[in-house]
Amino acid sequence: MAETNHPVYGEITGPVVMIGFGSIGRGTLPLIERHFKFDKNRMVVIEPRDDTTGILESHGIRHIKEAVTKDNYKALLKPLLTEGDGQGFCVNLSVDTGSLDLMKLCRKLDVLYIDTVVEPWLGFYFDGDADNSERTNYALRETVRHEKKKHPGGTTAVSCCGANPGMVSWFVKQALVNLANDLELTFDEPATDDREGWAKLMKKTGVKGIHIAERDTQRARDPKPLNTFWNTWSVEGFIAEGLQPAELGWGTHEEWMPKTAKKQKKGPKSAIYLEQAGANTRVRTWCPTPGPQYGFLVTHNEAVSISDYYTVIKDDEVNYRPTVNYAYHPCNDAVLSLHEMFGNGGNAQPVQHVLHEDELVDGIDELGVLLYGHDKNAYWYGSRLSLEEARALAPYQNATGLQVSSAILAGMVYALENPKAGIVDTDEIDYKRCLEVQAPYLGPVEGHYTDWTPLDGRPGLFPEDLDSKNPWAFRNILVR
Ligand code: NAD
Repeated sequence: MAETNHPVYGEITGPVVMIGFGSIGRGTLPLIERHFKFDKNRMVVIEPRDDTTGILESHGIRHIKEAVTKDNYKALLKPLLTEGDGQGFCVNLSVDTGSLDLMKLCRKLDVLYIDTVVEPWLGFYFDGDADNSERTNYALRETVRHEKKKHPGGTTAVSCCGANPGMVSWFVKQALVNLANDLELTFDEPATDDREGWAKLMKKTGVKGIHIAERDTQRARDPKPLNTFWNTWSVEGFIAEGLQPAELGWGTHEEWMPKTAKKQKKGPKSAIYLEQAGANTRVRTWCPTPGPQYGFLVTHNEAVSISDYYTVIKDDEVNYRPTVNYAYHPCNDAVLSLHEMFGNGGNAQPVQHVLHEDELVDGIDELGVLLYGHDKNAYWYGSRLSLEEARALAPYQNATGLQVSSAILAGMVYALENPKAGIVDTDEIDYKRCLEVQAPYLGPVEGHYTDWTPLDGRPGLFPEDLDSKNPWAFRNILVR
């Protein structure tokens, strides 16, 4: 890989503590090295597994072979985060570590913090005693919102800043501005801190809803053996979220709810969940490469946060809100892995493996936002990064990984440039600056209009329960 002159965006003056060194940690390390000035001798990676890749050793990074737990996190992390002068940075890229507690500790110590999901401590995802509403991302997000309300301002902690959640929130803003221009609306672009202005602009464009519409076409060299779960990013993370209830931001245009739907009882109530596993729930959606396709309605923080962010309140009532859901077609090997897993009562395969860039032969991760229901029907805007391009741009990652690690880079730049912004969601931060930092790693970033609607070709040979007046109603989108 040809090393070029990469821009250095800032200096991390204190220690850098990375938690977790899986597929995303490995991809993020070289980006941190490229784009920040920091003292390598003051960087540590806390990861319970051996680094069989040898990357940490070859980069001269200290490895602490331990798991961060609810019991040890304070004693383990405090000395590492506060060692020596300057302001530290904690980059949490692990599974099973409590984001909220880690964020609280970092802010107390005046250490910058970033993660890619609101991760709970070990045990949360598969807690059979918990009510399903407690296992939602809505509930997890509420814990962070509560902390933010209780302790506004202070040291910056960027919550949920990967590709999705994360980058897609910046895509939504860019897509909305593009759409408003294409619709020839008269509008001023709202300021970064003008949430209400952004929500009103969304309403003005007539957008009824948004899919985070993703198609991963990356193909492995060898066929997947039986009894293995293969994916292009964390298998553990995907199984955990895939077995959470399906969940979506619930728009004001919806007139029908599935029988399994449940409303939330506390907070902004912007989302509903279904009493069924997200990775076993399909929706109809659209991406540029395949055109119409099925995606899994896997719960994600962005479905909840975007629907909440773009809510218009009038006279204390919800006046407008878009429906927002993730519609994910993972790589074919992961689709097959899910099919096998759910066919076996939801019991995960004993062998779980993240496909790295050398095991894959080709394909792209097409990850964007589909703004639908307006006068131009639907508009997809996103990154169409290929495996080949990802390999040329940065080491140790496939296309999926680079979309995530470059978003982490952008979030870290934001935190360094805005160290006292408090706890922030990616919806709330400067989307232009973040996309500017991230763009060199995203391959083609494109907008595409489509005439397709979820009613196309229906009903076919069999009767269907459709809402023929509202093509983009969730009733037509959900596969039943
Ligand atoms: P991975 O499974 O490849 O790696 C996770 C690593 O965390 C593993 O190496 C594991 O040993 C380590 N780990 C487990 N328990 C730990 C503990 N208690 N303390 C420290 N480390 C621990 O996962 P990944 O693909 O690298 O993903 C990492 C995280 O990023 C996951 O939470 C995942 O959900 C999230 N993610 C977010 C996005 C996004 O776009 N927002 C995308 C991909 C992954």
